[in-house]
Amino acid sequence: MKKIGILALQGAVREHVQMLEALSCEAVLVKHVKDLAELDALILPGGESTTMRKLLNRYELLAPISVLAQQGLPMFGTCAGLILLAKEVIDYEPHLGVMDVVVERNSYGRQVDSFEIKLDIPTIGDAISAVFIRAPHIVSVGKGIEILAQYDGKIVLARDGHLLGCSFHPELTTDSRILEYFVTSMV
Ligand code: GLN
Repeated sequence: MKKIGILALQGAVREHVQMLEALSCEAVLVKHVKDLAELDALILPGGESTTMRKLLNRYELLAPISVLAQQGLPMFGTCAGLILLAKEVIDYEPHLGVMDVVVERNSYGRQVDSFEIKLDIPTIGDAISAVFIRAPHIVSVGKGIEILAQYDGKIVLARDGHLLGCSFHPELTTDSRILEYFVTSMV
């Protein structure tokens, strides 16, 4: 059984656990450095990236997670998790700084704080449910980065080798196809 960690400092943690268990994976809550041992992959959930950053510092998790990403541990960042992974964040200091993308926070304006759409993602499937909550988007990608989905002219899902990042929350829907893509083709 694949052992998948979920960074459990803040944000949409429980929903990822439920989806992973439904996909027959073991879900491990990561709150301390010791929880990172022997994982097959790590999920960085949505929430609030500035709060998560403070907690990553407090629990001394930033450097260990960044080392694991550099060593090739598969990681999937959703929404705030994508912001944590990005090498560059417009107007902010980067956090883990491992995924070769430039990200901008809160890209969808205040009046549409939250909305759900259906995305056609050629490598994964059609009409995949995606929930956007004060979502970031990917402004540009480095060489060799696969752009997997765009919405409204903006990149919302991309893959940098063993790192996957999306603007939205797949775990807040009942559609597990993106997580399934991660655990079956990247882990
Ligand atoms: N706006 C949040 C941030 O900048 C991300 C929102 C989310 O994860 N739903 O961290």
